[in-house]
Amino acid sequence: MQISRRHFIIVAASLASASVLQTESRAASPEVSESDPTAQALGYKSDGATVDTAKYPKYQAGQACANCQFYQGKSGETSGPCTVFAGKPVSAKGWCSAYVKKA
Ligand code: SF4
Repeated sequence: MQISRRHFIIVAASLASASVLQTESRAASPEVSESDPTAQALGYKSDGATVDTAKYPKYQAGQACANCQFYQGKSGETSGPCTVFAGKPVSAKGWCSAYVKKA
């Protein structure tokens, strides 16, 4: 009985710390915010349809992070890492002035 209880405590402690580590790694890379200094410098919008076209005339409808050369997300996902933002996730339908059409 003693061994079993000890084993349970060890397993429970391991699961709890694994859960904390998982939460921390997820929290370490939240999606890029439009208020992020780099995002503001590049005119990043999480929805390309809201881009200020007077300020960014190079934006064209249909351009989005999902079809940008710097986007590393998988097809069909709502967000994915962007190399311009040091690998932080950006919205698949987002856009910024560093956009380059994926070849
Ligand atoms: Fe989106 Fe491309 Fe700008 Fe990254 S560089 S935020 S993928 S448009």
